[in-house]
Amino acid sequence: MTPTDHVKLFIPGPVEISEKTFQAFRTPMIGHRSGDFKKLYAEIHPRLQTLFGTRQPVFISTSSAWGVMEGAIRNIVARKVLNCMNGAFSDKWFDVSKRCGKEAEALQAEWSQPILPGQVDAALAKGGFDAVTLIHNETSTGVKNPLKEIAAVVKKYPGVLLIVDTVSSFSTEAIPMDELGIDVLLTGSQKALALPPGMALFSVSEAAFERAATMKDRGYYFDFIEFKKNQADDMTPSTPVISHIYALRSKLDDIFTEGVEARYARHAKLNGIVHEWAKKNGFEFFAAEGYRSVSLTCVKNNQDVDVAAWIKALREKYRCVIDGGYGKIKGKTFRISNMGDETEATITALLGWLDDTLPS
Ligand SMILES: *Cc1c(COP(=O)(O)O)cnc(C)c1O
Repeated sequence: MTPTDHVKLFIPGPVEISEKTFQAFRTPMIGHRSGDFKKLYAEIHPRLQTLFGTRQPVFISTSSAWGVMEGAIRNIVARKVLNCMNGAFSDKWFDVSKRCGKEAEALQAEWSQPILPGQVDAALAKGGFDAVTLIHNETSTGVKNPLKEIAAVVKKYPGVLLIVDTVSSFSTEAIPMDELGIDVLLTGSQKALALPPGMALFSVSEAAFERAATMKDRGYYFDFIEFKKNQADDMTPSTPVISHIYALRSKLDDIFTEGVEARYARHAKLNGIVHEWAKKNGFEFFAAEGYRSVSLTCVKNNQDVDVAAWIKALREKYRCVIDGGYGKIKGKTFRISNMGDETEATITALLGWLDDTLPS
């Protein structure tokens, strides 16, 4: 494996984009109210539903994931939201809830620890809530929360809707929205889907549409009811990022050619290879055992390696980068992504380059 001609990203988003995807991205433009656009959306929609594990409509938002994360708060939270927090992205969601003028309560777990179903149960038992936010895969810490068990707890509370961010786990493992009873499931384009940043995908349950319809201040750009009305006609409320949708179609071709199950197995396998490498080199994992992401590895820098110098050397010698840790755990951790189109060959090459550039 030889280094790429550009700096290849092994950070947990954005990730490397294939030539094939870029080719699709530069497809000539079409009108967003044209038959060609409707055909394009209608063509990809069933495959999106399969990946979401839903019979509900799947929407395309011309925004990064945060747009839909904020939109979900505005469409769904009438009384009070419980924000499950155990990392940079989930902590921020609490702040966003308050900035939207909502009553919000923090369920804070230590970074590196999962949100446990019992904690959610205890919080909801106090009453007054009508929504919960959860990040499935906390990209900042590499913690994967027990989504299935938490969803089962939320189900016990009628009228409490579950909003789940799967930005860095979507398409790396099965997340069956309908079966789990998730009310809003959202993801972004630049992580596991290996598309450029700037597009988000989401789906909404019937209960969540009913709630949204009663909300007075849900705005326009992220109005779930507008999305629903437009999707029924294979369109989006405003001019969508058409280039991304062409790229998404190409990516869906890739995913279904590889096979969804094979794709999940590939992510698990590559993640396992990174884990073995970390152990072999005497590193520990930041995320608690049993709650580790399969799309990225957050390694604890228990050997006090100069991570910034390591990444600099990696970049100079092998034209690629890993991530040097997020926010308050910068330098104390580093993260290696195995999202997107990576293979055993590319991940093994990266690990060899990391060995070669490891500061002594
Ligand atoms: C990257 C990320 C986001 C934010 O995505 P943007 O594209 O910056 O809006 C949100 N949640 C998780 C879990 C992420 O990994």
